[in-house]
Amino acid sequence: MLRTPEQYVESLRDGRVVYQNGERVHDVASYPPYQDEIESRATEFYMAMQPEYRDLLNIMEDGEECSFAYHVMKTPEDLARRQQITQTLDRMGIRSTKFTGIDALNGVSYAAHKMDVEKGTDYGERIDNYRKWCQKQDPGISATMSDVKGNRALHAEDPRQKHKDFYLRIVDRTRDGIVISGCKCHISGAIVSNELLCMPSRNHDEPGKDYAVSCAVPCNAKGLTFIATDMEIDRGLGLGGGGSPMVVFDNVFVPNERVFLAGEWEFSRLFTTSFARYHRFSIISNRVSRIQQIAGLARLIAEYNGLTHATRIRDMLAWLAMFADMVEAMGKAAALDSKVDPEIGLAAPNEIYSNCAKFFCADNMHQAIKYLQDITGGIAATMPSWKDWENPKTRPYIEKYLGGDARYPTEERIRTLFKINEVASAPAGIAYLHAEGSPAAQQMMIYERADWERFKAAAKHSMGMKTDHPEFRDLPLPTEHLWKLPSK
Ligand SMILES: Cc1cc2nc3c(=O)[nH]c(=O)nc-3n(C[C@H](O)[C@H](O)[C@H](O)COP(=O)(O)OP(=O)(O)OC[C@H]3O[C@@H](n4cnc5c(N)ncnc54)[C@H](O)[C@@H]3O)c2cc1C
Repeated sequence: MLRTPEQYVESLRDGRVVYQNGERVHDVASYPPYQDEIESRATEFYMAMQPEYRDLLNIMEDGEECSFAYHVMKTPEDLARRQQITQTLDRMGIRSTKFTGIDALNGVSYAAHKMDVEKGTDYGERIDNYRKWCQKQDPGISATMSDVKGNRALHAEDPRQKHKDFYLRIVDRTRDGIVISGCKCHISGAIVSNELLCMPSRNHDEPGKDYAVSCAVPCNAKGLTFIATDMEIDRGLGLGGGGSPMVVFDNVFVPNERVFLAGEWEFSRLFTTSFARYHRFSIISNRVSRIQQIAGLARLIAEYNGLTHATRIRDMLAWLAMFADMVEAMGKAAALDSKVDPEIGLAAPNEIYSNCAKFFCADNMHQAIKYLQDITGGIAATMPSWKDWENPKTRPYIEKYLGGDARYPTEERIRTLFKINEVASAPAGIAYLHAEGSPAAQQMMIYERADWERFKAAAKHSMGMKTDHPEFRDLPLPTEHLWKLPSK
């Protein structure tokens, strides 16, 4: 089923408990500060009904048209289409309700089915049924992984932690389901979503088995409280709608059919990494658009400032263009080199390439922002407000004195400066680094999954040492030339 934008907006009036900047928000859908965010998200539902976007956004499943987001990823083409959808929505300024949560759906499916193969559990069937329910209901889903963690050096159950609830955990089990408590934080779009798909944020050992929990919880579940991101911080990110709130779970009951991991601690990490694998892949498409914007903003402001001829400025612009194109190329490689798991038939992007792309983005984003700020000049930090631009008393002065190269209208320069402030803000810089996992998470994964045998074989071969590695074993050694000069 496809929901209308109106149905999506109405679905937010379900009694969810939300606090924003010190006040309870009783009706999320009518709360003025959330209006822009809700419109942006509802537009995705509107687009799904327009003839020109139906082929991209929707698919027929069991004879019914529904969002492609819920489709089971079985081929590299499916992954590439998802990338295309993400980028199209992002470029249209749409914060999708089916972004992080769909990566969670795919990640949990992957991990649950792998676990079933090894343990004979039935979690795969449960998540498949949940996916079918999503196809029928068209909900917005938020990936709910990051725990508040407390002392990061300690395990969740370590008695030296201040309390037991720094990681979401099962506090009770009944015949019909589980009861969970704890707090997840930074959960993007959760307040304007419908479902939270919870996953563990790390490995847990046997003593911490109650922390190995994955389940789906509706946003109005009894015992849930959302504490929204501060509005000023949110504005710095160009977001609204409560941003990426803390979500407190106070004895929330989850029925068995919505539980996808409940104590199988050995699989906890697989749930974390499977989600990360899909999510880092998705985020590349999103980041590519952002980096393209940064490169474009830098070029525009250089043009407005009349400085495109300066070698220094050109060098920085060339670096920004390289950054944008390299990240795009890495994203494409991750989709093209995806693998279909032979045991469970699900396609997943190349894990190393996705993680390399995300790390490369995060690692270089501050350099990109630095170049953008350098090219722009200090005016981005000192300029008057948009209201002064609109005020007929002050506008003529701003028009006259904040103009640049005579070929361009002052208003274009002013608009560009505001946008630069948004993409180069401190909260944006933090988000580029930490959202979708801190750089250390990618480094850990790349270190673990890197093909060290291949790299060692390359090194040994270069030194003339024999190796059994299939890429090198039949290759003549570089130290023994096949053709030699006639002996003297
Ligand atoms: C804008 C934004 C949106 C987000 N959206 C979502 C979302 O929708 N859903 C979701 O689940 N999460 C989301 N996140 C969370 C994101 O994945 C985390 O911020 C990220 O994983 C880092 O975790 P942390 O913020 O708790 O930082 P920390 O884990 O505290 O990390 C801080 C630093 O400490 C280091 N560190 C941490 N633990 C150790 C250790 N044991 N040993 C050595 N070093 C350590 C880290 O490498 C890092 O350098 C979002 C984050 C942001 C900023």
